[in-house]
Amino acid sequence: MSPQGINLKVPFHRACIGDEEIQAVAEVLRGGWMTMGPKTVQFENEFARYTGARHAIAVSSCTAALHLAYECIGLKPGDEVLIPATTFTATAETVTYFGARPVLVDIDPLTMNLDVADARRRVTSRTRAIVPVHLAGQPCDMQQIHELADACNLRVIEDAAHALPARYGDKAIGSISDLTAFSFYATKTLTTGEGGMVTTDNDQYAERIRMMRLHGISRDAWKRYSSEGNWYYQVHEAGYKYNLTDLQAAIGLVQLAKCDAMRARRESVADRYNRAFRDDPGLQIPTVLLDRTSAWHLYILRVNEERLGFGRNEFMKELQARGVNASVHFIPLHLHPYYQRVFGYRRGDFPVAEAQYERCLSLPLYATMGEDEMDCVIRAVQEICQLAPAQR
Ligand SMILES: *Cc1c(COP(=O)(O)O)cnc(C)c1O
Repeated sequence: MSPQGINLKVPFHRACIGDEEIQAVAEVLRGGWMTMGPKTVQFENEFARYTGARHAIAVSSCTAALHLAYECIGLKPGDEVLIPATTFTATAETVTYFGARPVLVDIDPLTMNLDVADARRRVTSRTRAIVPVHLAGQPCDMQQIHELADACNLRVIEDAAHALPARYGDKAIGSISDLTAFSFYATKTLTTGEGGMVTTDNDQYAERIRMMRLHGISRDAWKRYSSEGNWYYQVHEAGYKYNLTDLQAAIGLVQLAKCDAMRARRESVADRYNRAFRDDPGLQIPTVLLDRTSAWHLYILRVNEERLGFGRNEFMKELQARGVNASVHFIPLHLHPYYQRVFGYRRGDFPVAEAQYERCLSLPLYATMGEDEMDCVIRAVQEICQLAPAQR
């Protein structure tokens, strides 16, 4: 072990923020216009170009993006929305804002993405939308999902919190479905600290979301305090305060310009993990499908308890003891008290999601990982596998 390798701690995440982001924020501060303004418009335009979407609307989070997406399709009390059990609560909690029901769907054991055959079985006359979540950054089977949506007249709203940049076939995520929601949260692949974006090709949806993200005030109301502005405005709906700020957009513009380079770095880390772990019978590396390109937001490793003689929780403790901070994505929604109490979900309802949850852990994966940090993670995982009983 190299001297600097001793006592090395590998954080779960470290954002890729350089002098350019700091400079960009300083310029906005010096300019004196703090909130949504010209930088946000520029960020939206460049994001739309990057994803190939007709419209990109910047908002304060992916949670806000999902809320506004459900709002613009007119979600109503009693409506149902198909959501994978393996996701973050934001995907489903925003459905409950409308008195609608998140109908959970089991996952595919290989990709851990929504199982489209299971989704099909859960469609009823009340089902309004399906929300694929591109777990870890690898796109769901969008062809099958759109076939189901077309057959049952469902809107498709993608939760792409993990999927920037990602591609399905020759199309970028963000340009495929009715609406797509992105996250710029601190740990995501593009960060503005907090932030999000909705993309859509639908002019009506875009107009509605632009209005609802800022108090239901008619379009371009943010200009009303600028020199070209006008004091008059009208409130058309009870909207929300979900806008992004120019301070955040300035960071986002710099991050967007290096988004491909950061993805390439994460992919090279993932390749290295794959080579190190693929032949170990105690481990299952992520399944990469050839017709799509992952954003590589997360590296989800699954442990084989039968082979190792111990499970994921023990594995996590051993990683921690070796200075490696790992995480788990995700505790299936039906195991949380809220979804059990309000929607009657129970342990056992989604056996694949539960089985994969019991086995999965997410290793550190980010563009700023150093060689010593990758080595530390690989060495730790390999050491832990050697703790296994004699059958190996
Ligand atoms: C992070 C995350 C969100 C929420 O993003 P915010 O920008 O924090 O609101 C939604 N869905 C998934 C799958 C996420 O991982």
